[in-house]
This record gives sequence, structure tokens and C-alpha cells, in this order.
Amino acid sequence: MKIVRVRLPGEEIAYGAVEPEGIRIHQGTPFLAWEPTAGLIPFADAHLLAPVFPTKVVCVGRNYAEHAAEHGVAVPDEPVIFLKPSTAVIGPGAAIVIPPGAGEVHHEAELAIVVGKVSHRVPAEDASAYILGYTAANDVSSRTLQKKDGQWTRAKGFDTFCPLGPAIETEVDPLGLRISCSVNGELRQDASTEDMVFGVAEIFAFVTRVMTLLPGDVVLTGTPAGVGPIRPGDRVEVEIERIGVLLNPVVAGS
Ligand code: MG
Repeated sequence: MKIVRVRLPGEEIAYGAVEPEGIRIHQGTPFLAWEPTAGLIPFADAHLLAPVFPTKVVCVGRNYAEHAAEHGVAVPDEPVIFLKPSTAVIGPGAAIVIPPGAGEVHHEAELAIVVGKVSHRVPAEDASAYILGYTAANDVSSRTLQKKDGQWTRAKGFDTFCPLGPAIETEVDPLGLRISCSVNGELRQDASTEDMVFGVAEIFAFVTRVMTLLPGDVVLTGTPAGVGPIRPGDRVEVEIERIGVLLNPVVAGS
């Protein structure tokens, strides 16, 4: 199943499921209980939001060997994790806003785990029972500020620097999915999730030994090689096989 979140007329927000003819609006949330309603919105009329609004976004750095190599850093012996604020999250179609002084800003296509249940010290072999599904993410990063600050909070924490979507796929095996990123139609990143250093279950176990994950939280699993600059006027597409295409335009902030 593909789960989306939509803004309805009158500013109400609802979860929905993708059906062949459109989006079936549901009552409730996929984290507790939800039920289909009579509402069906044609795709062309749907205003998609980020498929979840997390309390936190946990990210794994250097989780593809070739990407670590392009930064001249070693693959770590255990996952390196950091946080992006929830306020960085935007949905499909929303603009990535590059603020003045951000310097060189890069795209990072990533597979995102969407947490389904309260998760505390979950063993790797039980992880799939706690995961609702997977979506696409772009860990937008100011390379200039990442280098200058020596840590990543500012570089990766600006508002709009965490596009998520378009949908949460609940029935996909996260291993061996093609993951790619194109800028203005030019392919920049093209890899398989099979190339991750630490797999989804291992990452989930590691993170939940550090912090409790709540329903709707997301874990970004690192980016493959090929990261590069994005600039105002660009259109960035992160595509993950079986999940979909996350498209965001880039604009200049003031
Ligand atoms: Mg990243």
C-alpha cells in the first residue's frame, strides 16, 4: 500500500491511500487506527504534503562506501548518526529555499524509514514489525557550512532542507532498490540500496538503542555517491524504485 498525506479544501489535513483512480481519504492515522471514507480525490487535484510530520529526523552519514570515498573519509565501524529538525521537512513539490550565506548546497538522495510504533531497543531481527514503510528523502546539505562548522546542525538544519515523499510504501523490501537523483533531468546519483554499509534493520536497532523513536519519526539511511550542487531555478528529483519520485524546485531565500 502507498500512504500519502493531503491537504483538503478548508485546510484540513488527512491521510490517504493510493488507489488506481485517485487517493482514498481515510479517517484516523495509519499509526493507530484508520478507516477509508467515501472521499476519493483525483491525483490531479491532490495537494500532497510530506507523508508524515515527524517529531525528529534521524540521519545516518557515510553509509555508502563510494560516497564516503568522494568526501575522502573512511567508512565508520558503526553508524554515524545526526539529527535534522522536524521544521526542515517539506513535501513533494514544495520549494527548497537556499538562504543567503549557505554557500554550496548539495542534494543527497536517501531511502527513509518511517517508524510505525514506539520503538525502544528494538533488536535487528524485530525491526520490520516496528517499521510502517519507506519513503524517499533528500538530505539537503550546505557543504560550505558543513566544513566550516565541523558539525552538521546548521548545514543540514535549515527550513526546507528535508524533502520527504511522495508516499510511504508499506509492502516493499528495502534491500536492492534502485535509488537515483536527477537535477534538471540530468542523472547525478544512481545506485542500489544494496550498497549500504549498514542495512535498515541494523540501523534501526542501533538508533533505538540511543533514542526512542516515535510513530511518524523518520530515519534517513545515507546517500550514495554522486552528490553535487543545486541552485535556484533547479528541479531536483529523488527517485526510489517502487516508492516514487520526490520532485522539489529550488529557490533563493532572502
Ligand atoms: Mg545524508
